[in-house]
Amino acid sequence: MGDLVEVPPDFFIGYAPANLALSHLSMVTPEIADVLVVPLGEINPKDGHPGGNFQYNRNSKLIRLPEFNEHDREQIGKLGGLRKLVAGFLKIKPDSVTDEMFVVFTIAHEIGHAIDASSKTFEEWQEIGLKEEGIMTRYKWLPLKKRIAGYRQLPREKYADDFALARLNKLL
Ligand SMILES: [Zn+2]
Repeated sequence: MGDLVEVPPDFFIGYAPANLALSHLSMVTPEIADVLVVPLGEINPKDGHPGGNFQYNRNSKLIRLPEFNEHDREQIGKLGGLRKLVAGFLKIKPDSVTDEMFVVFTIAHEIGHAIDASSKTFEEWQEIGLKEEGIMTRYKWLPLKKRIAGYRQLPREKYADDFALARLNKLL
């Protein structure tokens, strides 16, 4: 566990580009200094949110991230939509998207959620969550690829993606 402001040497993430991105983002976004970064555990590549997640509790805000070891990076890399998204932004081929690009994008995406949440109350955040759950229920019978594409169009996901993409060039 660690604060966003400082990445201690024994931090659970051992992948240097990930720690650099976290340190940089925490310096330029003081409004999320109260957010804790905690280990995610196993990655599910079928999840629309495979690289991590953000949780807004009544008394705390958490970003869960994997260690970004080789196995984690392989799992994250399997999500085709993510590769395409990052490739489109950087104007390169999806095959040319490196681990570092994924990882930095994933971290910036979760930070984007935290920034979005910093301007909302717990109740407001919950209300938006309920609306989004309703939308996702309608996507339930769609094939996985379409479901993930629909998920990424949800307002909070769009916000986090836009934040991450806007910072990607500076972080790589
Ligand atoms: Zn997200």
